[in-house]
Amino acid sequence: MIKELEKQIADTRAKLFEKLATLKNKKDILKSTELKSLYDEMKVIPNDHKASYGKLLNDLKNELTEASNEDNAGVDLEPIDVTAPADFNISLKDFPELLSSEKGSKNPITAEIDLLLDIFKTLGFSSIESPEIDNDYNMFSSLNFPEGHPARDDWDTFLTHEKDSKNKPFIAPAHTSTMQHRVLVSERAELEKGKPIAYVIPGRVFRNEDVDARHEHTFYQLEGIYVGKDITVANLLNILKVMFSKYFGKDIELKVQPFYFPFTEPSFELAVSCPFCDKKGCSVCSRSGWIELLGCGMVHPNVLEQAGINPAIYTGFAWGVGINRLVMIKYGIDEIRHFMTGNLEFLEQF
Ligand SMILES: [Zn+2]
Repeated sequence: MIKELEKQIADTRAKLFEKLATLKNKKDILKSTELKSLYDEMKVIPNDHKASYGKLLNDLKNELTEASNEDNAGVDLEPIDVTAPADFNISLKDFPELLSSEKGSKNPITAEIDLLLDIFKTLGFSSIESPEIDNDYNMFSSLNFPEGHPARDDWDTFLTHEKDSKNKPFIAPAHTSTMQHRVLVSERAELEKGKPIAYVIPGRVFRNEDVDARHEHTFYQLEGIYVGKDITVANLLNILKVMFSKYFGKDIELKVQPFYFPFTEPSFELAVSCPFCDKKGCSVCSRSGWIELLGCGMVHPNVLEQAGINPAIYTGFAWGVGINRLVMIKYGIDEIRHFMTGNLEFLEQF
């Protein structure tokens, strides 16, 4: 009996593979009547043959699934014999590109992040990278964005289908502030012993943006957070002035105007004096003499409270700056998408 069934499967298998070769949508083979009737057979065969028949059928289905996934229909590839002896006569001379003296180098973004971290190290800041996947709590709730808060929509976040323990989707962070709560919690004990919390957080962030020369779905940010006693807006502006002056290698002036972020109060949008024309107006600053560069403000008391820090005793400031944008201004790059392309002509200029 089982021999007959085996033969039946083998015959159908041959037919199915012939059919597969002619199908435009290869997946249709899994819905074919031939395969279906093999499954129907299952209902009528004797119980003691069901297991072995089922296994054969399953193997066939797996084989078909795999074959239907191959997207190279019509291309006859030379089979590779993985058991063949290696050809030891290959010489490096056959691959001149490997012998050239050209060396790889750091992506400009990496190099500039290193430079920024060095600047902050001299100012006493520690650094920690932000994660590339996070949860709703770190991205929103811990940062004073209550459930249903309209500002949650200001960031067009990418979500996963997978849910966390609170049944919320995971998030590809849209800003490096997603690390703020963690840093505040982990440094709280030191803060209470008298050591201010001083961190910079570089990281890759993701936004569901329409991509153009100025906007990219993936870019880099540098977050900064400082919390201690008697910290004011003056301290914030002083640190940012030092950062920009060191980064651009000249004295930079700052200009702030009120803005709104849920996690800072007051919040500001900050512009720097154009490092190229010293406020006279040029193409980089759109003739205005100033370049809007970042969002910042004093850490909202609710954010401190969420992390178990008493806002009646401690205050602090935070900012987030787009690193791609900084590098673009510094080197006069007009196309943000260059950074992600791996285009050597672009990268070799650095
Ligand atoms: Zn200018």
